[in-house]
Amino acid sequence: MQCHLGIDDTDSQAGGCTTYIASLIIEKLGKLGAQFTDYPNLIRLNPNIPYKTRGNAAIALRFKVPAPEKAFAAAKWILRNSLLPTDPLNQKPEPGLVLFIGDRIPSMLRIFSQEALQTVLSISRARDLIKQLHLRSFSTNGGRGLIGAVAAIGNPLNEDHTFELICYRHPKNWGFLRKIGKASVFEMDSVFRSSTFNNSDPKSSRILIAPRGPDPVLLGIRGETPSSLMNAIRMLDLDEQVQGYVIYRSNQGTSEHLQTLKGLQPHEAGSVRGTVMDHPRIERGGHVFFELSTKLGSLKCAAYEPSDSLRQKVLLLEKGDRVQVGGGIRPASSTDALVLNLEFLLVEECIPVYRTFNPLCLVCGGSMTSMGYRQGLRCRKCRARVPPIPKLRVTQPRNIAPGFYLPPPRSQRHLTKPIKRFGKERRRPYRRLLEAWYGNVSSL
Ligand SMILES: [Zn+2]
Repeated sequence: MQCHLGIDDTDSQAGGCTTYIASLIIEKLGKLGAQFTDYPNLIRLNPNIPYKTRGNAAIALRFKVPAPEKAFAAAKWILRNSLLPTDPLNQKPEPGLVLFIGDRIPSMLRIFSQEALQTVLSISRARDLIKQLHLRSFSTNGGRGLIGAVAAIGNPLNEDHTFELICYRHPKNWGFLRKIGKASVFEMDSVFRSSTFNNSDPKSSRILIAPRGPDPVLLGIRGETPSSLMNAIRMLDLDEQVQGYVIYRSNQGTSEHLQTLKGLQPHEAGSVRGTVMDHPRIERGGHVFFELSTKLGSLKCAAYEPSDSLRQKVLLLEKGDRVQVGGGIRPASSTDALVLNLEFLLVEECIPVYRTFNPLCLVCGGSMTSMGYRQGLRCRKCRARVPPIPKLRVTQPRNIAPGFYLPPPRSQRHLTKPIKRFGKERRRPYRRLLEAWYGNVSSL
């Protein structure tokens, strides 16, 4: 029977723990005779959810197994008993596990999943769906994880998607420095430039494949095909024991969350077109703000200081420019209106900007000044007068052109589509499993 198992642990800082638990469940299901029908799906949800962990990731495993009940019980056992590093600053984990059995994903699940990408959903809506569709579920500590678990099942990644190969650390190394040869990452990045993305941040020379902090993930390489990821990881110098790896299929790097906004609601994600209403200005902390007139109303937009190069581009906008912006909506505060936090800027049209000035004096070449309305001009130097003549107008060069602008890789969301992925979008799901799509490192 075709099973879809959704997993969300809602605890991890960047999705690392959720995928780690998934990797343990995958191994167990393999031992129970499960035939996987797809790569595990790593589904990123709305990154602007207030209670969320930063990555807001959930997993769906899709497989056929003779005894789904047994598979569910095994997954539940793992979710309950996994030893995970805990971060005292984090709220308690609220894991959720949901099982749907069937060949076709019901439209109710798909709609729920689409909403979970852009809006804020309640636990009770997830519970209602579970009840209506008679799904098996398990949760603890309030069950917030049910939202992600249901949403993951509902996104079969039928359109654009990417892959990520994630390597897990041996538990004895958790919390210790990751031993990854930096030079080998840059070398891999240059060899696999066209088939991987966001391995490093060019300007800061930071490596982006490895998380920081105590989570069980050693590293993750994101890219276009499973085989390019397998080849890429073989180039890395890893000086620590690796417990295992899994290749995931994902909506990372697709900007799936930035569909056209239907309204301006706090914590939602999306995009909207509009006209720039004022010259962008730098405010406290180096953040840049401007007002956009949209069909949803006037919207304040922000490019925060870490968005670096994007912030520089925003400063070049002029009143009247036509743009499209995408990002998350920060709720209004006591002093401030709603703000859209820019994840991308698409400049559609740059209006011409003119500078006007009076002609120079014909007698001495000095500058001329107006004597008043319809009074003509007088030379500042030789006092020569001329009758009223129109001002001269020259077009000012614009230092920004129509195009797509993103923050540097280090400040991009997991979901943000990198510029180098434009034109590489997949139209159909790629589910053909590599022979060794998961395993221990000896099979790499
Ligand atoms: Zn003069």
